Amino acid sequence: LSGPDAGLTFSDLALPPPILCALARQEITHPSPVQLRALPAARLGADVIVQAKSGTGKTLVFGIVAAEAAASSSSLQGPAALLIAPTRELAAQIARVTQSLCDGFENSPHVSLFIGGCPEREDAARIVQLPPAIAVATPGRALALVERGNLRVAAMKLLVLDEADRLLDGSLGDTVPRICEMLPMRKQTLAFSATYPAKLQVLLRKVMRNATHIQVQRRPQLSEEVGEKDASTASKDTNAADPNQKAVLLGVRQRKIQVERGVNTSETKLEAKTAALVALIQKNPFSFCIVFTNSKKRNKSVVDRLSRAGFASADIHAGIRQLERTAIMKSAADGNLQVLVATDLLARGVDIDICDLVVHLDIPHDSATYLHRVGRAGRFGKLGLSVVIHDSGDEAAELHSMEKGLGFSMTKMLAPRLSEAV
Ligand code: ADP
Ligand code: MG
Repeated sequence: LSGPDAGLTFSDLALPPPILCALARQEITHPSPVQLRALPAARLGADVIVQAKSGTGKTLVFGIVAAEAAASSSSLQGPAALLIAPTRELAAQIARVTQSLCDGFENSPHVSLFIGGCPEREDAARIVQLPPAIAVATPGRALALVERGNLRVAAMKLLVLDEADRLLDGSLGDTVPRICEMLPMRKQTLAFSATYPAKLQVLLRKVMRNATHIQVQRRPQLSEEVGEKDASTASKDTNAADPNQKAVLLGVRQRKIQVERGVNTSETKLEAKTAALVALIQKNPFSFCIVFTNSKKRNKSVVDRLSRAGFASADIHAGIRQLERTAIMKSAADGNLQVLVATDLLARGVDIDICDLVVHLDIPHDSATYLHRVGRAGRFGKLGLSVVIHDSGDEAAELHSMEKGLGFSMTKMLAPRLSEAV
């Protein structure tokens, strides 16, 4: 942090003591710029749209507002807050963070997680047994529970849309607008994301009243590392498809590696790229790596290859049973894994705080997805590295057009050689 707010601590924000204790326990003392700017408005009850880079601490903004709402209500009337996130993994993470903020309050507000992949009737039973003060849910499950009356909405004061652009991008149909319609008119709505395509403003207007828009565009700490331009000049770039998309850039070096296939080998493109991946992680010290691909089909073979090379790895995608997905995320958080091979299921919001390397084994479908993937490394100002591994054919062209859209070119890295045959 720099500037006039540099010395401010969370105590200066007049937060309730139980929240200050919870933060102190996690050694969180100084609010980030987005927390400093968004917390006061959000705590006053305004509808706020918050746009700030990945890994800058947006979760705490809405977690604190939700915990305060829950602390001052009785969960017997139904939850005081509904927090919606696009994936089960992200929802689980939000529930953990929010529960930790609630723990110290006298009425011990309870946070419940409602996600697909677990039987809905069990959710209904849990709600009766231990009425949640805060519900954290994925969209489909939230709508089902609200429509069936299992989750009572009459007392709801707060609705949070995390990764709001993803929630409203149309891929979920009208699930999220329908949830919004069923909640009381007089509630507060908070929307968060790192990328904000221009049309999101229009979509959000339908679900929010007179929202305040808070945009935190801090210069990247390592501007020369982040791209060829820094954030202050980037928005003037006429090549940029959408300047708002740049909000996500952070202190992560962004590189690309072109792999060449020998003319006479039968090696497939995936094998060539996987070999480059193995060589890359052998040569570059890292704490935790997420490898993104565009399809779950071939991920198992990538994991096998990584395991043979001695890396503790697993793959995760929406086709895996929920219990197993939860177990995989837990072993990642517990430090029992080094590499996760994932679909874009993990592209957004997921906070594995030791993750310092992101590899794109396929070119992402769009630049927003690219930026969110990159955002999994370098959480809260830590340094990280992102590497796109591509071939010299179609993928080189695809990457080139994505770079044009992003407004910068990634620096080329030489393809590392494998240290031994694996
Ligand atoms: P975002 O949602 O903006 O991508 P998160 O809310 O997931 O970011 O936070 C990223 C990481 O930063 C988390 O591990 C979180 O615990 C940590 N963090 C958040 N706020 C602070 C703070 N004020 N001081 C130190 N660490 C923080
Ligand atoms: Mg987030």
